[in-house]
Amino acid sequence: MATKPTIHIVWFKRDFRWHDHAPIRSALAAGERVLFAALYEPLLWSEKPYDPRHERFIWDSIKDLNEVAGKEVVHFLNVEALDFFKRCLATFNIKAVYSHRETGIGKTFARDKAVKSLLDAHDVSWNEWDYGGVKRGLKHRKNWLKDWYDYVDIAPLRTDLDAVGLQALSNPFDSWKHNPSFEAHPYLQKGGASRAERVLYSFLTERIKVYAQSISKPLASRKGCSRISPHLAWGNLSIRQVWHMAEVVELAGSKQNQRAFVDRLRWQAHFIQKFESACSYEFHPINKAYAAVDASKIWDEKKFEAWKNGTTGVPLVDACMRCVAATGYLNFRMRAMVVSFYSQYLWLPWEAGARYLASTFTDFEPGIHYTQFQMQSGYTGVNTIRIYNPIKQSYDQDPKGEFIKQWLPELKDLPLPHLHEPWAIPPMMWDMEQWDTGSYPKTPIVDLTAVRKHASDQLYSIKKTKASKEASQLILEKLVNPGTRRS
Ligand SMILES: Cc1cc2nc3c(=O)[nH]c(=O)nc-3n(C[C@H](O)[C@H](O)[C@H](O)COP(=O)(O)OP(=O)(O)OC[C@H]3O[C@@H](n4cnc5c(N)ncnc54)[C@H](O)[C@@H]3O)c2cc1C
Repeated sequence: MATKPTIHIVWFKRDFRWHDHAPIRSALAAGERVLFAALYEPLLWSEKPYDPRHERFIWDSIKDLNEVAGKEVVHFLNVEALDFFKRCLATFNIKAVYSHRETGIGKTFARDKAVKSLLDAHDVSWNEWDYGGVKRGLKHRKNWLKDWYDYVDIAPLRTDLDAVGLQALSNPFDSWKHNPSFEAHPYLQKGGASRAERVLYSFLTERIKVYAQSISKPLASRKGCSRISPHLAWGNLSIRQVWHMAEVVELAGSKQNQRAFVDRLRWQAHFIQKFESACSYEFHPINKAYAAVDASKIWDEKKFEAWKNGTTGVPLVDACMRCVAATGYLNFRMRAMVVSFYSQYLWLPWEAGARYLASTFTDFEPGIHYTQFQMQSGYTGVNTIRIYNPIKQSYDQDPKGEFIKQWLPELKDLPLPHLHEPWAIPPMMWDMEQWDTGSYPKTPIVDLTAVRKHASDQLYSIKKTKASKEASQLILEKLVNPGTRRS
């Protein structure tokens, strides 16, 4: 019987870049053949929270990796992970598998456990590295911040691309080659480490000047914020690379803007760490006292559809929902507001909303998304309950109504200030002006004042209960970061 060729396998998982990639570096160190593989796993990818926009982003990212390497060295394979490793075991003598530890969803965790059992059964070691300073198995956060700073302070690793070219294995499983063809898309952000570096550079050296003044505005944020979130979420950049770039380039803008940005890099890791330590965030309110409130909510498909499609009758909410479906991006405050509207005004069970919204964000990052969704729903017991007033947000954040008009063409003829609350236009004015707003609702689908009061009464009354306070204490002990900035 012919001996099987010896190989090492690098499994790309939300880390689509060449540099600052410990698994790649270790796999290359032996000087032997390396199979660089990324998997399109049909069972995982066929349903929400994943969406073709994520696949598209990964596809771009792999294309970029291969362009940088100068030939096709990373193989995107359409196969379940277990089947992939079974065939690899049958075909090769696998020295070891190398990857980052994925802080993913329940399904990816279960898949990893199954892969681990398979590899263990064949005595193949799987070497995993912490991702972005996020640690597995933490019981508390006492030293977390110091450890995180120690991690980001180390210079990012460089990968020897010549070694990649020499050691990379060509695709041994041609029939699994994943070959989607994507048309150019007018709005969705494209993936790739080369693009990510350009986006970050233009932010740090120019766009950061208007960061603070743009961050809450749905339109201005699209240029005034960094827009690196999908590149971080899918690992085109490591958080450490961003951290170091912010140190080495000559930063534009005020100290305040620079600090606000750097703070958010720490928040990114902090939220992912929370989720890593309490992955039940994906399925249940983290504060058990709120699970009963959520269970008491009644599912209403019509309300859900109106929220998804941007037809609730509240212009800023509707513009945001149409915008995110089309472009994959919303700034932080508008994300928080549409969640508040879903969970508090429409009073819908949180999970379906969280899953849908995740599928619209190109930057879907489970660790940030599920934790933030619960926080903005008012379900944690440890954060201030915030019920956004979408009319006030409309006047404050889109004062000229430019964003609303862009996404709600039905309202293009309405003058200010009526655009913010069309239901308040006196009937006589409708008669006189004869505005045609098509099928857009004449009034919001819920009575905003009444539902807001209902949500506030419910959420505050739960917050006062012993059960909520006890659960909050546990959250504080295990998940909350004791420090803020480095002293
Ligand atoms: C309900 C809800 C869901 C969210 N889901 C995601 C998600 O799936 N993926 C995601 O990357 N962000 C998520 N965010 C956080 C935030 O809205 C985005 O990170 C930000 O809008 C991305 O734009 P930017 O890259 O221009 O951000 P910048 O303001 O330029 O910030 C730089 C980076 O810091 C991190 N960051 C910024 N704000 C936060 C925050 N509040 N918490 C944690 N990290 C932050 C992100 O990695 C971001 O790319 C969510 C927020 C809410 C309210």
